[in-house]
Amino acid sequence: MTHPPTSPSPELLRFVRGDLPAKDRARLAEAVPDAFGQVPAGLNARDRQALTYERLRAAGRAAPPAAELLDDPALLCGLLERAAVADPALFHVMLLHYTLALGPILRFGGGQQGAARARLEAFEDVGTLLMTEAGRSNSHLAPRTTAVFDAAARAFVLSTPDARAAKFPTNTAHPGVAKTAAVYATLVEGGRERGVFVFVVPVRAADGSVPDGVRIVAAPETGGLPVDYAAVRLEGVRVPYEAWLRDGASFDDEGAFHDPVGDPAARLTRSMAIGPAVWRAVVAASAAVTRASASLLAAHTSGRVTLGRLAPSAPLAGYRNQGEAVLGSLASAYTLTAVAAHVKARRTSAEAPGPAAVAAAGGAWAPWSAVDRDLALLKAAVTAAAQETVTRCRLHSGAPGFAATDRLNAYRGLTHAYMSAGGDNDLILFDTARAMAARDRYVPPPDVPPSLEDLADPQVWPALAGAVEARLAAKLAARVEGAQAGGASAFAAWNAELAPARAAATALADRTVLEIVAAAAADGPAQAAPLWRMAALDWMARRAGVLLNEGVAGPGLLDRVWAARRDLAGEVAVEPLAAALEPPSGLGAPAAFVTGE
Ligand SMILES: Cc1cc2nc3c(=O)[nH]c(=O)nc-3n(C[C@H](O)[C@H](O)[C@H](O)COP(=O)(O)OP(=O)(O)OC[C@H]3O[C@@H](n4cnc5c(N)ncnc54)[C@H](O)[C@@H]3O)c2cc1C
Repeated sequence: MTHPPTSPSPELLRFVRGDLPAKDRARLAEAVPDAFGQVPAGLNARDRQALTYERLRAAGRAAPPAAELLDDPALLCGLLERAAVADPALFHVMLLHYTLALGPILRFGGGQQGAARARLEAFEDVGTLLMTEAGRSNSHLAPRTTAVFDAAARAFVLSTPDARAAKFPTNTAHPGVAKTAAVYATLVEGGRERGVFVFVVPVRAADGSVPDGVRIVAAPETGGLPVDYAAVRLEGVRVPYEAWLRDGASFDDEGAFHDPVGDPAARLTRSMAIGPAVWRAVVAASAAVTRASASLLAAHTSGRVTLGRLAPSAPLAGYRNQGEAVLGSLASAYTLTAVAAHVKARRTSAEAPGPAAVAAAGGAWAPWSAVDRDLALLKAAVTAAAQETVTRCRLHSGAPGFAATDRLNAYRGLTHAYMSAGGDNDLILFDTARAMAARDRYVPPPDVPPSLEDLADPQVWPALAGAVEARLAAKLAARVEGAQAGGASAFAAWNAELAPARAAATALADRTVLEIVAAAAADGPAQAAPLWRMAALDWMARRAGVLLNEGVAGPGLLDRVWAARRDLAGEVAVEPLAAALEPPSGLGAPAAFVTGE
């Protein structure tokens, strides 16, 4: 008789740790030590935020230089993963600092923002992003904040025309932290709009003062992802020519405008080309907090006894609902880890240097899909999956998972927030669906539903998702084209189909993830084999409605999935799978502070 292994295999550990060399991992662990997961008792909100910034500075000064991090996706993701697991608020401000403030300076600045860059690299200033505008949806497509070129002074005047155009949310409220902002504004010259560009603007000094024309209105305190939110209005703020991250565009001595990118729509896409670094980091961080959540749930469950009358003293793990929740959460954690490895290894055309690398101009709902449709879609899929898994872990950890530790609440806040932040998930799905319907750089997979005789066959999983996707995409295209052929406007035609559009894009994301899972099942660590099966079964249960609706599975699907999942959860030893996640110290069973276990 063979006994299940009790410790993780070296292959399993390597899979979870990823490709970063041990010396890099050690350096990142020094930059963001496990101790950052602890917060002293009794801090008020501002003091808590001050501590987050203090830790950001300490981490940034101990980590490799910003330019090196921004040039090495796996290294930057490694740092941000540690931050997310220790403290989601730290992850958020760190992501903004590196990818959304320093990122555009390094990428678009042409080396002309020496002083601002030096302050940010030395963490004397913290970087902040002024992109979204408070009062209108989809503000990223057409910011009403303007940067008017003053030809005589060769300078710019930045203005948010009214309260609805105020930049919100931003992390600028703390009075004791100096901030330099990347401001997204529509460039105006001689009354003509020339496209959206980024401007580097100091918005607060260390003594709390703000420059002339900058008005910061602190937001009420919130707890979901606690940072110093504020709205920022710019009222005639003058900045020098060098504050313009012009990316090859210029005004000549006569004041004539030149932009090698060509037109304002393409310029908007180009200015958003910082997206891939953000999406990679969000995917990696979502995977990391899902791993932490799954190991918390495993720790909560292990050794816990139940008093239900059907079987007094039976172990909680032996009840199938809890066993499946533990194994399903581990499966989700490993799946998202595989997706994170996939995106970390992937460079995109949006990141190629020079204005020649301009992507397609514009999406209908948001700029994101025009920058990198696949990566934006994976960001949407992974944040949604992580949010679902973290929530499941919280529920199955009972009261201790809510009240004895704040980690699961905080991870839930992070994954939930990033379904909106970093590009709203709904809008990404709609733009993806529009590209699918138009066959714009999209080839549907074969509509050949596989036999469901063997649900454990990895080839079945993406084929099943692909058949659903092909059917949804074909129906969507036919309906939208039909409506437009009948005289409906593009708005009316699409507005009637947003639910199917969401389903079609979700199916594409599902297929992509299941292809990654099937590849891991073929080449990945042997010990993880049951996890890929569990991930696929959970996916079938989650999408049973659409699988049945599209006729790629018939009645009885759920009976088979439930049976397969139950059997699997009964067979697998979860200890080595949980141990390979290597949770940081302080992430044991939530109730251990009282039970002492
Ligand atoms: C925690 C957090 C931190 C953030 N930090 C920053 C920051 O530092 N700097 C910054 O600039 N921004 C920040 N953001 C803003 C973020 O980028 C936006 O929230 C996001 O892009 C969505 O924009 P919105 O909030 O205006 O929502 P909206 O655009 O109003 O969208 C809300 C919902 O309305 C629906 N909807 C909207 N428009 C349409 C449409 N045309 N068709 C169909 N449905 C539609 C969708 O269901 C969508 O989910 C942050 C957001 C969060 C949650």
